Amino acid sequence: MEYNEEKIIDKKKFEQFNQKNDIFNRSLWDESVKNNQTIKFYQDYIKPPENNKRPEGFNHKDYALRNAGWFMSDYFSDSKRNEGRSEGFTNTFSVQKQGTFTKYKIKSTTELTKELKIVGKKLGADLIGITKFNPKWIYSYKYNRSENRTSENTIDSSLKNVIIIANQMDKELIDTAPSALSGTATGLGYSNDLSSALSLSQYIINLGYKAVASQNDTALSIPLAIEAGLGEYARNGLLITKEFGPRVRISKIFTDLPLEHDKPISFGVKNYCSICQRCANECPPRAISFEDPSIKQINVSNIKGIKKWSVNAEKCFKFWASQSSDCSICIRVCPYNKDFDKLTHKIGIKIANTPLRKILIYFDKFFGKRKQPQLWWHK
Ligand code: SF4
Ligand code: SF4
Repeated sequence: MEYNEEKIIDKKKFEQFNQKNDIFNRSLWDESVKNNQTIKFYQDYIKPPENNKRPEGFNHKDYALRNAGWFMSDYFSDSKRNEGRSEGFTNTFSVQKQGTFTKYKIKSTTELTKELKIVGKKLGADLIGITKFNPKWIYSYKYNRSENRTSENTIDSSLKNVIIIANQMDKELIDTAPSALSGTATGLGYSNDLSSALSLSQYIINLGYKAVASQNDTALSIPLAIEAGLGEYARNGLLITKEFGPRVRISKIFTDLPLEHDKPISFGVKNYCSICQRCANECPPRAISFEDPSIKQINVSNIKGIKKWSVNAEKCFKFWASQSSDCSICIRVCPYNKDFDKLTHKIGIKIANTPLRKILIYFDKFFGKRKQPQLWWHK
């Protein structure tokens, strides 16, 4: 089923998403979300709990490793805290060096687009797609965490193109989810993403063009990634890519570099999700819908006026806070979370796009089981 923006948007109900309503921001201002567990959740990212009597995968060294995975991301997000910025989370990155004043002379945008993708991969990106700046997915307001207020979300109107980068998260770590250990994959995903996005932005700036690197700030990443042809939207509320399934982190670069756009792709995810439901069944707080895609807004953390599978972010985050780490079960168990370098899985993803997908669903229950964190440490 092809992605069609017209079919999923209810124009009368649609509203751009206000970043204040992102569940992580709500946990700072909304008393219905904020509690002692959510406060502890964030504290454990600053100082790992030193209690070794916690369940396996949630011990001192698991948190030590998880927080090390987050180190580069935290370094940038904290670097301008005194200016009220959280780079990559509520603000774009502002660390680029000055480039040239003379613009590189472009002979062919087709060639330039091809080269940019090669360069991006060399600079660390696993996947790259390009789409147009679509104001629907830009936050109506951004949120200032230090001052607990919304602010204008201004973006230079000459940045007409968006480069979407996705980096895979480590499969072996995700296989231990839920655990603080598996949270290492999340942190590393963010850290690797920022490295490739900043480096590719600097390349564009060095060519004499504008480039603004961004992660969770400024705009919703998933719809832009879909429009840039990186994957399809899934029941678990995530992007599913052909290469790594839902096991990716996304960043974006807003640029005025003239580039050709990719097109959305379809490889059977919507049909597969409509009969799979494994993530919904295995989500401990039942935050994932068993229903068909709908326009219903579960709470303010869902964007208004889009027909889709929506996740109950309040239930999801409450579970994260209760175990003091992110969860990722819905990534681990997803049948698309495979090593697609293996021939069997390459064949599997093709079958998933045919009516034979029902057979795959039966056999897939033997995959995606949790690996004991101790086995990861001792391998
Ligand atoms: S687990 Fe199944 S239903 Fe959930 S996202 Fe993956 S394929 Fe879709
Ligand atoms: S991250 Fe965990 S709690 Fe949240 S939706 Fe996925 S499975 Fe459910």
